[in-house]
Amino acid sequence: FDDRDGVIWYDGALVPWREANLHVLTHGLHYASCVFEGERVYNGKVFKLTEHSERLAASARILGFDLPYSVAEIDAATNETVKAMGFTDAYVRPVAWRGSEMMGVAAQDSRIHVAIAVWQWPSYFSPEAKMAGIKLTWAPWRRPAPDTAPTASKAAGLYMICTLSKHEAEAKGYQDALMLDYRGYLAEATGANLFLVMDGKIHTPKPDCFLDGITRRTVIDLARKRGIEVIERHIQPDELANTQEVFLTGTAAEVTPVGQIGDHSFTPGPVCEALVKDYDALVRG
Ligand code: PMP
Repeated sequence: FDDRDGVIWYDGALVPWREANLHVLTHGLHYASCVFEGERVYNGKVFKLTEHSERLAASARILGFDLPYSVAEIDAATNETVKAMGFTDAYVRPVAWRGSEMMGVAAQDSRIHVAIAVWQWPSYFSPEAKMAGIKLTWAPWRRPAPDTAPTASKAAGLYMICTLSKHEAEAKGYQDALMLDYRGYLAEATGANLFLVMDGKIHTPKPDCFLDGITRRTVIDLARKRGIEVIERHIQPDELANTQEVFLTGTAAEVTPVGQIGDHSFTPGPVCEALVKDYDALVRG
């Protein structure tokens, strides 16, 4: 990923892609004092840009640091980078971390760095191909409790168990893994939120120990606009036996129907189809 043309916004200026480097004694690398965002550009415009910039700042604050730029400045820097890269459809990765001034657990005086990179990452599937549904296996790791890790932050450290789970899933021939939470309730996939359709109503896990995705909230609104009831609650894994449709939501995943979770099979149906289409129309509208 590091060897390509283009520019990356790095601490206030656009620098050549290959020169956007950092020191090996970076606190963010050793101690995970790092937060990030994932955004998508549709028709040249970042979808829900300010919400993402606000979440980046909030994630940093949860890890005990303030970004050296305002949300408006992050918004402007993101637009500048998207424009410089010239893509009309792309993925955006803002990241903020503690620098290399102090080495040790404590790093109060380290500099806070911010970078924004943009690259092409097409939707995984066309709306039609999505309807086949992806296959999930159970993750070997659970989402930690809010008093075990700063679960409301989109913090890099929380992704350690996601990468482990996703690698294990892919090695077994699945596209992704479904994670339970620390209590044993259904939580989310490794980078996307979970929705179940039961008897025409949508049920989705209450995001009290994992990310309340921006796509999740968008899709809840879209479903309610269609008159579909959406219930946020704790959901037991055995409730999948009474579930007709399942889908995931996320900036990268968009709305992705699920055909299988472990031994449970599902056929993506009218609710998946409606929300895949509604989301596509909204982001491209
Ligand atoms: N959960 C996790 C662990 C994620 O990484 C993401 C992607 N950012 C999501 C949920 C979905 O969040 P969003 O809809 O804001 O992209």
